[in-house]
Amino acid sequence: MDFLFTPPAPVSLPIQGSGARFPVHRVYCIGRNYGDHVREMGGDSARSSPVFFMKPSDALWLDPEVPYPSVTGDLHHEVEMVVALARGGRDIAVADALACVHAYGVGLDLTRRDLQARAKADGAPWDSAKGFDASAPVSALCAASTCGHPQHAALNLEVNGTPRQHTDISDMIWALPEIIHELSKLWTLQAGDVIFTGTPAGVGPLVRGDRYRASLGEIASLEGRMV
Ligand code: MN
Repeated sequence: MDFLFTPPAPVSLPIQGSGARFPVHRVYCIGRNYGDHVREMGGDSARSSPVFFMKPSDALWLDPEVPYPSVTGDLHHEVEMVVALARGGRDIAVADALACVHAYGVGLDLTRRDLQARAKADGAPWDSAKGFDASAPVSALCAASTCGHPQHAALNLEVNGTPRQHTDISDMIWALPEIIHELSKLWTLQAGDVIFTGTPAGVGPLVRGDRYRASLGEIASLEGRMV
């Protein structure tokens, strides 16, 4: 094919213990998925409809040096379990959902909280608050064939050695099979899709020079620094 210019390289994620990389299609995110975080943001944690948004696939960021974004004075961390799908479909039944999952990791849903607050107040979209460049630092993935499909796992974030966020993934309001089921009603899921599954309480600021360490049990870990 004769392209006008060289197309961008595909986005892909490393898989622990494998030379093969996971090629990324889309990045879906769920909001308000741990009750303690919903409450700290002033919301009602009663289960209603899940809130979904997306990040561009090239917002995934593997370099341990993360550039502090422009146009914000209040960048926040949100530590989240990250899920990578090797199968997709539409209207996927809850009972069939985990069979779509290839691997698990941990990542940060970095958020320009000041822009998000303004967008919420104005009823405006969240894209500039959530989908900016390098807004999704993510770990190498652990294949489910190695780590299984965790029902319980500690999700932790430390900043400069101080604990900031901690939960167990079993505390999610919408469990992973339900997230996949709900997403597949709205979009046709595909192999290569990545899902950020929501954050617990303790979200807070990151500034230049901060060092973070995130982990999902023994499954995955992520370290980096804001520059
Ligand atoms: Mn989030």
